[in-house]
Order: sequence, then C-alpha cells, then structure tokens
Amino acid sequence: MSLFENTLKQIEKAATIMNLDPNVKALMQHPQRIVEVSIPVKMDDGSLRFFKGFRVQHSNYAGPYKGGIRYHQDVDMGEVTALSAWMSIKCSVVGIPLGGGKGGIVVNPKELSVGELERLTRGYVRAIQYVVGPTKDVPAPDVNTTPQIMDWFADEYSKLEGKDLKGVVTGKTLEHGGSKGRGIATAQGGVYVLNEVATSQGMVPANTKVVIQGFGNAGGVMAQLLAAKGYQIVGASDSQGGIVCTHGFNPDALLQCKVEKSTVKNCHLDMEKLSTMEGSSCKMVTNEELLETECDILILAALENQVHEGNADKIKAKMIIELANGPTTPEADEMLAKRGIMVIPDILANAGGVTVSWFEMLQNADGKYWEENEVFEKLLPIMVDGWKAVKANADKYSCTLREAAYVTALARIEGKIREQGIL
Ligand code: GLU
Repeated sequence: MSLFENTLKQIEKAATIMNLDPNVKALMQHPQRIVEVSIPVKMDDGSLRFFKGFRVQHSNYAGPYKGGIRYHQDVDMGEVTALSAWMSIKCSVVGIPLGGGKGGIVVNPKELSVGELERLTRGYVRAIQYVVGPTKDVPAPDVNTTPQIMDWFADEYSKLEGKDLKGVVTGKTLEHGGSKGRGIATAQGGVYVLNEVATSQGMVPANTKVVIQGFGNAGGVMAQLLAAKGYQIVGASDSQGGIVCTHGFNPDALLQCKVEKSTVKNCHLDMEKLSTMEGSSCKMVTNEELLETECDILILAALENQVHEGNADKIKAKMIIELANGPTTPEADEMLAKRGIMVIPDILANAGGVTVSWFEMLQNADGKYWEENEVFEKLLPIMVDGWKAVKANADKYSCTLREAAYVTALARIEGKIREQGIL
C-alpha cells in the first residue's frame, strides 16, 4: 500500500468518527497542486545529470503551504503527497495558520560533493520558483536537508526575485535569518507533549526506560532532553543498527561516540564502560530487535512504516512517541490499540518543528529576532493546547490519539473552508 493510501485511510476513519461533511473529506483527499520537475546539474566530472524533484501543495485553507523538502534516493510522489497531507493536518492540530506542502528530490546526498549539492539545490529552486514564496509556499528541512541547504534556497530565490525574500524557506542558519531554537524544536515539542502525558499518568522519569529508533537530529536531541529530566535512555539505533543496555546511558556520550565510530552500534562497549550504574551491560542489536526491546517508551525518530503488521504484536513498549512522520502503518495502529499501547501520533508529537518554522516566518517578516527562551515560552502553550484538544476528542469519541488528532485538525480546517466560501 502506498503511503498516501495510508493517509486516505486515516482521513476516512476520522471522518466517520466525527461524521464529517463528505465534501470536506473529499477536499482533504485531493491535493491542490502536484509539481514534478527535472533538475539538470553539472557534476564535478563535467557530466550533466538530471535529478527528479517534487513539490506537492496539499492544502492552503488554513494558510500558506508549509513543509519540508527531503533528499532521499527512495523518495517518490506517493510519499511526498502523503507527507504534504500530514503537514496540513499537523499545522491544524496545533492551531497554527499554515497549510500543508512537501517536497523531495530523488538523490542520495551523501554521494554528492558540496558543490554538486549546492548546484542541485539552486536548480530545484529555479524549477519550482513559480509555486513558492514567503506568503505562498514555504519549504523547510526534512530528511537529509540542512540549514546550509535552506540558506542556498533562500539566496537563490532572493536572487531570482531581485530582492531579499529569505522568508521563502525556514530552518536557515542563524546568520541567514534562522530562528533560535529551530534545530531542537521538534524534540523539544515532543518533550512538552510527553510531560503532559507523564504528569497525567504519574510517570516517574527515574523509573522510565526509553528506547529511541533514529539517533539523529530529532531522536538524539530528544534523548538528551529526556536524560536531563532523569529518564533512563536504555537503547538507541541509527540506520546501521543499535545498542540496548540494562541501565540508562549518557546520550551525550553516545552522540560523541557515534561521530568517532561512525555508527551507534559500535558504541556498546563504550556505553557499558561509561555507565555509572554498577553492573550495566550493553549489547549490539539490529533495528528489528531494538523495536522489540522491553521498555516504557519507544520513540520512533527514523523513517516511515517502521512498525507494521509484521512486528506490531512484538512491540513491548507501553507507549510510543512518533517523532518521525508516518512510522506506524494503519494496520499496526489497530493492533497496538487493541493491546492498549498508547501511540502519541506524529502530527502532534513532532509539530514543534513546524511551529518554530512559523516563528521563523514571523521573525523574517518583522525583521526582529527572538531570544531562545522567548521561542520556547511561545512553543510550550501551543504544544500543550494541541495535546489538550487531542485528548479531549479522544475522550469524547472514545478513539485513539491519532484519530482524535485528525478529528481536531479536520474540524478546524472545515471552519476555514466554510469561511472562504468554498463549501
Ligand atoms: N519537516 C518537518 C516536518 O515534517 C518540518 C516542516 C517545517 O518546518 O515546515 O514537520
């Protein structure tokens, strides 16, 4: 099943639960614009290569299209379309005035030189220039795209338009108009939501074991933030595999070790040695084993479709937090719900990233920049209100948190659609 079919199913389910106007449902199931481009790039060896790029604008009922660009060899239109729809839903779950979009280029950026990557990015901007803009469609980082890439994007677009339009993209470096706090915003937003859940469930961090799939920008930072609150980080992985320990380890040390040894799984002995707990032992595990580890919280911070029909019954975590987009399939969702495993869905758990992107848009438009504490003071109530709205709908409709998040978002989008006289 394609990823977009998963999205359609999720919208369908929520629509049934809330008895949504079928026309609103249909509008949300039809992306407004799909753009596919071919990007010519002069390679370092003098040859010319063509890369396929996409930009999908799912909906702009709540505000300008908003969403990241991913650079990945396996990216395709179905995936980008699903991701764009999730952005529409995500922005409305937390009530920020943005719609949904997503972009992608079929490339493994690790195989390109810095110069080639820059030329590819600038070529992509030239190809999609006519559909983006600071009040129209604002891309951002996603899988394998960095603040440096966003700087190139803003620079190329501003050059093409003949004026400073750095607000065309978010997630830029601080020197080029980025927002303080954007780098850790996704993880911080996830922590704010977890704090609410933890308080309501009387969770004690020191007794709470956490395993993280995807020890990169979002997952690695979330591990650090949780360890600082006293949570026990007992497992982590990257695309090469992972480690699991009997006792909590220091995620700062693991991030450091990952840089030195190129992958998390080579760090199991180091984490064992560095443990302050008597008798802690660590072992190397595969990604599959990591997902099936006994723990209290499993954080999914890698890619889509990680928990599926084939392994959902083997998950031993009591709760899942989705920091990645779409890591749980609809079939797995049903299996987890039957087993009473709570899933804090992506469209709420990782909304901190796009929320601080919105802050970046506001700062760019205003020319005034906020301190980091100001950014997080503004992020906190948005995440908490998002959680409260979702929880209230989960209680009202006796449904899962994902279904409730869709219900929350669809009701808000329906309001916008009616205000605009579309229906
Ligand atoms: N790529 C991130 C997401 O999936 C951030 C998008 C943004 O900041 O626009 O939410």
